[in-house]
Amino acid sequence: MSEINKMDVISYLNEIIEPSSKKDLISLGAVKDIIISGDKINLLIELPTTAQHIKDKIKNDVINLLKNKISNDIEVKIDMAVKGASQGPPKQSGILDGVKSTIAVASGKGGVGKSTVAVNLAVELANQGFKVGLIDADIYGPSIPLMLGVNQKPKIIQDESGTKITPVEHLGVKLMSIGFLIDDENPVIWRGPMASGAIKQFLTDVVWGELDYLLFDMPPGTGDVQLTLVQTIPLTGSIIVTTPQDVSLIDARKGLKMFNRVNVPVFGIVENMSYFVAPDTGNTYDIFGTGGGEKLADELETSYLGGIPIEPKVREGGDTGNPIVKAHPESESAKMFSQIAKNLAERISSVESGSGNVEIIMSDN
Ligand code: ADP
Repeated sequence: MSEINKMDVISYLNEIIEPSSKKDLISLGAVKDIIISGDKINLLIELPTTAQHIKDKIKNDVINLLKNKISNDIEVKIDMAVKGASQGPPKQSGILDGVKSTIAVASGKGGVGKSTVAVNLAVELANQGFKVGLIDADIYGPSIPLMLGVNQKPKIIQDESGTKITPVEHLGVKLMSIGFLIDDENPVIWRGPMASGAIKQFLTDVVWGELDYLLFDMPPGTGDVQLTLVQTIPLTGSIIVTTPQDVSLIDARKGLKMFNRVNVPVFGIVENMSYFVAPDTGNTYDIFGTGGGEKLADELETSYLGGIPIEPKVREGGDTGNPIVKAHPESESAKMFSQIAKNLAERISSVESGSGNVEIIMSDN
């Protein structure tokens, strides 16, 4: 096969018409990148439409046409993006100015280990040398101070420029929790606007300084409170925690749709309680079936960041305020957290450099 010529590829793409504008891909300016290496062609196509069936059709048409014109043996890989898709609410200047990435740790339902994942990921990212902050935004059960063994409250200073709050620093992580604002005896009955008001204050009044990652432990679920929050926080992206059971995976899917609705990219899926590690023998048992989180990530065109086993030490770490990544770095779970932290950091940097091509899928199914 002779060398593939970029100009030829462009002339072929001239023949593909985008149905809503009735223009071809080249005059539409939809082809953002063409990389040819050997018999492989990588394309980045950015369309004005968000309809999934149109994107699928264009993808198929391009692959068929290029194979037809060039050779059946070529490999064509296409990343699709939606034109004008912004990433979360715009960041105002003065808010989180020193923070490079803001990441929501979310779950479709409670009890899947979202807070456990948020805490261990934050501590592990700090272990790996990153500057990390963690906001406990879970108004239904702000458990992060307990999980990190933090007793002190943040310092609040009032001066002529307003309120300034110094976050608590523990295990290398700067921390603010909605739990600091309420007393332990009273259950929290908050509506979305109140919760988002408190979180807004964390964004504007807390002195975060320079951070690589600011993680948010979100309230579980996909209702109004959660939606208000993801619209309040200028998010770079999110990760969704699920367990392998079908009921949890269905909820995780809803979580992904919620982020799509507000154009926040989902960096990936973490499967918690993936399998069981027996504390006596170290043998592993697959209790809920394998591969659910991985399949879901595939189906939703996001990354599978990794799976964490059920290990009694993980729960003990949470109960005693000594997260497993610190208490037992040699454990299977701690090793997985370390891998997930690396995968997440890589994923974020590839998205930020523009090579990650996080696709924002707007379809409703
Ligand atoms: P969520 O934030 O989703 O409600 P939590 O992080 O509070 O869930 O976890 C719920 C309970 O499950 C906690 O007691 C926690 O210690 C325990 N847990 C979470 N993940 C694991 C795991 N991988 N192995 C063992 N226990 C876990």
